[in-house]
Amino acid sequence: MTLVYLNGQFMPVAEAKVSPMDRGFLFGDGAYEVIPVYSRRPFRLAEHLRRLQGTLDGIRLANPHSDAEWARLIGEIIARNEGEDQSVYLQITRGADTRRNHAFPARVTLTVFILSEPLVTPPPAQRDTGIGAVSAPDVRWLRCDLKTTSLLANCLLRQLAVDAGCVETILFRDGCMTEGAASNIFAMKNGVLLAPPKNHLMLPGITYDVVLELAASHGLKCEVRDVLEEEVRGADELWMTSSTKEVLPIVVLDGQPVGTGQPGPTFRKMYAWYQDFKQTVMRAGE
Ligand code: PMP
Repeated sequence: MTLVYLNGQFMPVAEAKVSPMDRGFLFGDGAYEVIPVYSRRPFRLAEHLRRLQGTLDGIRLANPHSDAEWARLIGEIIARNEGEDQSVYLQITRGADTRRNHAFPARVTLTVFILSEPLVTPPPAQRDTGIGAVSAPDVRWLRCDLKTTSLLANCLLRQLAVDAGCVETILFRDGCMTEGAASNIFAMKNGVLLAPPKNHLMLPGITYDVVLELAASHGLKCEVRDVLEEEVRGADELWMTSSTKEVLPIVVLDGQPVGTGQPGPTFRKMYAWYQDFKQTVMRAGE
């Protein structure tokens, strides 16, 4: 039975109830994080909490908890749920008002929700043979750096991939690649790893940081700069990264093979570095 945390209490998920007047429900007015948990230890917790603070600041919500309180609540939800590897979802909304009104309520009582689900990592076949992607114009707003629950555009964009039998949709804005519908995207060209710079057009991925750190520590040449659409279409390798998918090779884009159409040699190295890193930090206790 899944146990969740809602507004100060732990309870079975079936008993957790939120008002229909909650601004998370009415407006998607909230912030969230997804934190992978390996061997019952949250991965990169400090970095996730730092990004959460950035989102809360960006949407003018006061953080209801200190980092130490978050760590305790997250630790408790992990302990109360089954499975060594979990995916912890946390969400804070601007709470319920007495009437539907775009402007903030005069008195805000936040809704805080934490859920743990089993961590579902991608099937090995996706890593071994690669995945397909489609592309689409990035029609989202201009604060894609904030991890808010207003995800309708991301849902519509991800569905384009699913409709085409693919896994991800790569987004382009003004001739440059921004990210995936729910992931960051990297390109390899002539031995150089290309990554778009963190700015308001993409989510600063925790996995994105890990991949760039691993590239630097293993001497893989990187360029963090605008990545042009033609560079993506002409790449030797494309990867998608996210906390739950880790690193996956994209071998088909819009029906065309990426490079050789097989997972590339640098992907295989990065995948091994990533697994190695995960084992090391989880064993050592981050
Ligand atoms: N971009 C978007 C739009 C996302 O939703 C996500 C997370 N699913 C990412 C990038 C990857 O971020 P992270 O590595 O922190 O999971």
